[in-house]
Amino acid sequence: MPVLSGRSNKKTMLATVLQYLEEEHTCPHCKTKLTLCHAPPVHVGDGLGWGSEYLFICLNDDCSLFAKGWEYIENQYGHVGSYRYMEIPGSKETYNMMVAGRGAFTGSIVDVEAMKRQNKRYQQEKKAEAALDTCLEDNNLEPVLFLLLDEAADIRVRKEAVELLVPLNDLDCIEPLRNHTFRDTSLEQEVNMAISAILTKHFLKECPFCAELIKARATVCKHCRKELP
Ligand SMILES: [Zn+2]
Ligand SMILES: [Zn+2]
Repeated sequence: MPVLSGRSNKKTMLATVLQYLEEEHTCPHCKTKLTLCHAPPVHVGDGLGWGSEYLFICLNDDCSLFAKGWEYIENQYGHVGSYRYMEIPGSKETYNMMVAGRGAFTGSIVDVEAMKRQNKRYQQEKKAEAALDTCLEDNNLEPVLFLLLDEAADIRVRKEAVELLVPLNDLDCIEPLRNHTFRDTSLEQEVNMAISAILTKHFLKECPFCAELIKARATVCKHCRKELP
């Protein structure tokens, strides 16, 4: 797996992979569809960089190139190995890559379904982010809540969303936010402050025993009947 150094990198990678998935690559030896894999790490000193983080590889064990390669390498180099056919995405370059065994690339196959799920989540985040501009006039809590509850969303956008909680003044935000675990403690603090402000605006408080919303003036909880401190 390539090392990811940040969010923008992750976004670019996702876009790149999704673009590659549109490409059809077929092995000329066995006519099998090539599999998108993470390129193996190479030492810069080798001068063997692939120029791509991804490679399309024929992983068919019955592929004639792979099947015949064992004997060829044994005779030519005197060690165990064979060849896998590969192409570089977005280019016409093709290679026969030497591999030490059958499993050489099975661990680096790109998880296409996971990438698609990530992309779907990312599109939803973008949609929610775009809706932030109009959610006050639309009286729409949904995009704000979506972003606050999505731990994978951009923290900068989530901080924008938290600012809208008090102006929206919607009590419906309290339960889902209270039930969420925030990884970012400063965001959690802002959420808690916003909830307090919304409760105050509605002359309400949370019962410390049963967590139901009750009148700020109450001395006994109408839900659990406990005396309030
Ligand atoms: Zn093949
Ligand atoms: Zn109570």
